[in-house]
This record gives sequence, structure tokens and C-alpha cells, in this order.
Amino acid sequence: MFDKILVANRGEIALRVIRAAREMGIRSVAVHSTADVDAMHVRMADESVCIGPPAGTDSYLSIPAIVAACEITGAQAIHPGYGFLSENARFVQVLEDHEITFIGPSAEHIRIMGDKITAKETMKALGVPCVPGSDGGVPDLASARRIADEIGYPVIVKATAGGGGRGMKLAESAADLEQAFNTARAEAKAAFGNDEVYIEKYLTNPRHIEVQVFGDGKGGAVHLGERDCSLQRRHQKVFEEAPGPGISAETRARIGKICADAVAGIKYAGAGTIEFLYENGEFYFIEMNTRLQVEHPVTEAIFGVDLVREQIRVAEGLPMSFTQDDLQVNGHAIEIRINAEKLPGFTPCPGTITQYHAPGGLGVRMDSALYDGYTIPPYYDSLIGKLIVHGRDRQEALARLSRALSELIVDGIDTTIPLFDALLAEPDILSGNYNILWLEKWLERNMA
Ligand code: ADP
Repeated sequence: MFDKILVANRGEIALRVIRAAREMGIRSVAVHSTADVDAMHVRMADESVCIGPPAGTDSYLSIPAIVAACEITGAQAIHPGYGFLSENARFVQVLEDHEITFIGPSAEHIRIMGDKITAKETMKALGVPCVPGSDGGVPDLASARRIADEIGYPVIVKATAGGGGRGMKLAESAADLEQAFNTARAEAKAAFGNDEVYIEKYLTNPRHIEVQVFGDGKGGAVHLGERDCSLQRRHQKVFEEAPGPGISAETRARIGKICADAVAGIKYAGAGTIEFLYENGEFYFIEMNTRLQVEHPVTEAIFGVDLVREQIRVAEGLPMSFTQDDLQVNGHAIEIRINAEKLPGFTPCPGTITQYHAPGGLGVRMDSALYDGYTIPPYYDSLIGKLIVHGRDRQEALARLSRALSELIVDGIDTTIPLFDALLAEPDILSGNYNILWLEKWLERNMA
């Protein structure tokens, strides 16, 4: 059993991990940059270590600084949260060399899933349905043309090292292919230092449905149903819900079993998310995230589990505390992501919080590191809070979200809260009738 774990992250996710650790009787160590001396995660942890200057590359991404912090404090394990080093196979390897436990999957699994081509090949071999496309990387324009002709337009050119929606270009027809291919490669080279790309059939009307999986690292695994994360702006999720509107219990059981069997097949350890596009009743694998997701609380709400606690247990070598049969869907949950951004342009808007009031009451959870007087530094992601609501059904969850939003106060800066007030007046949102293009179209009409 661990006595002490280090949390290699900041903001709401650092608090999330510290809270789980405290409930398990485990002490926590926060690390922070000089810009985060007054951050809530530093205040809430049992100990803290300053690991460098403000820039993420010099602090939260500095492997030597984080390993040193671990050694100084005697922490036995590291939870990476999401982002930063959470999907960095080299980091996991370095921890292994220092006999520090990584609370997450093996370096090998991170490596396989971090490269979208090997991820797709692996999933295909494990029986997971994939988007039709090239078998592996596409070396040149001539091959790109041949493959695109074969699968049919529209096609999407994607970076094998991709993430955050970068290095992805759509070609509606053969005339667009050359430009899409060259731009995707150039973007991939600039963003990831790797210009390998592959081609997929572009699905024109899909929803983004992802399946939460959990493995014990020994060949046992379960699924915790799906989340619908179709409401996206520039491929970034803004509103997530579970279960997915219109996904039947039979469909959930079918795709869930495929996913659980796949991760069991590779002896995957810990939390993972298998992302699909879902169109005309079919699932198409796009990628696997080998970490805790931002939107994990909606799954926790409907299954009544603590996924971070479970991650820590599995990292300790303990069995999972639930079986597939224990996991029954209870009600409906919705999460909204609140960013320090100014509408309508979504420009980052850091600054000092003059007043903060979190909503409460039945079925309301606010995961945020804000407090009165806190100054949001300009160096990091603009996510400042997640509001999660749980109800007996979708209608009750929506009513609760609306009620909770009316209680929430974040003054002193601009936030994306008004976006959600507006979305909750939209018949399509109220009926669950949306896909991955819906929000962009709505923004064009309402916030251009
Ligand atoms: P990233 O890792 O950069 O987020 P993903 O592969 O997860 O990239 O894709 C992000 C988003 O891009 C998806 O949620 C979807 O909106 C869109 N997308 C990706 N692949 C396709 C495809 N084949 N057809 C249609 N849309 C796609």
C-alpha cells in the first residue's frame, strides 16, 4: 500500500487526485511552478515542492524536476492527471528505472496507443471496429490518391502523432487532396516533430461516443458504458453526457464487451477510453486515451464509482473493487467545461477572481480549483472548472444543470458560462439531437 503519492499536475485534476488519496488515507505531494505558489492544489496537498518557472516545459513537463520532487518527499507513486506527462511513455520508463510506481498503464501500452497507426492496427487485431482507411502511414501523394480513390471521398488526412485536433485535414474531393495532404504533414511536423500521416474515410454525420474501460493489468477488464462528447468546438469537447442519448442497453453491452475484451487481451492496467465515431448505428474506432479523461465524472456519477481510487488500487497491485455485473447504469449525468475565455471569440482571459460561488445541492458536483481572490495565471490551459450534474433521467439532469448554473458565480474574468445558458435553450440540446458538427454550426449562427 502507498503511504504517499505525488500528483504531477495542477488545477482541478490535481485536487481530484488529492481528494481520492485523502479518502484512502494516503498522503499527497503537490508540485507547482513559481506561477502556482498560491494555487489551490498546493494548499490542499499535505506537502508541496516547487519544480520550476512558469512555463509548462520547465515545470509540469520537466521529468528530472518531478522525479527529484518524488525522491525528496519519499512519494512512492505518481498520478499524472490528464495532459502534461500523462501519456508520455518515456516518463513512465524513467519512473520504472527509479522504482517509482506510475499510476496508469505500462510504457508499452502508452506507446502503442500514442501512435494512431499502431493503435488502429492493434485495435483492429483485437476485433474493435475501425474507420475504413489506409493500412498504416501514407508516404506520398501518389499513394494518398490511390487510397482515397479506393475508400471514396470525402477523406480526412490525420497525423499519426496527432492530438488536440491538430494535424487533421479534410479533403472533400480529389481536387482538395494535395493541399490537405501537404498541410496535414506540415502541421504534424511543426506540432509533433513527426510528419507521418494516414488517411481515413471522413464520416459526414457522426457522433463522438467513447467507452470507458478499466483493466487490472492481469487480463481482467470491465467497461463502464459510454459517454457522448459530440458537442465540440475545434475538436475540443465542451459538454459531455452519459449515457449517450439514444444508445440502448443492448448496444452499450455489445460495444462495451468488445472494448473490455480488447483491453483484457493486452493486459491493460488502469483507466482508459476507447473513442469512436458513431454513425447509422455503427461504431468506428478513432483513438484510445491511456489516462483519466477530463469528462470521467459523468461516468462516476451514473455508476457510483471513484475511478481515481480504482486507479490507485490497481497501481498498488490490488484487484478492481467491482465486476462487470456490479456496474449498473443509474440515471443520467452531464458535464460542462467552464473556460476562462471571452465570448464570442473564445480568447483566453486569465485574471483575478473577485467572487466565486460554487453551486450545490442534490446531484451537483463542481470540480474546480478556483477561490475568491485567486489569480489565474496566463501560462496554462484555460479550463477553470467542470460542473457535473446527475439526475434520475436526462430531463432531470438538464433541469438540474440549469438550476446549478443559476447559482454559479465567477466574477472578475470572462468565462464560457453564458454559452451554456444559451445552449440550454436549444431544442436540439434538450432532445439530445446533435452530432459532432452541431456546435460549430450553432456558433457560426449565434456567435460569429
Ligand atoms: P485528436 O487526437 O487530435 O483529438 P481524434 O482522432 O480524436 O484527434 O479526432 C478528433 C475529432 O476529429 C473527432 O472527435 C471528430 O470530431 C473528428 N474526426 C476525426 N476523425 C474523423 C473521421 N474519420 N471522420 C469525421 N470526423 C473525424
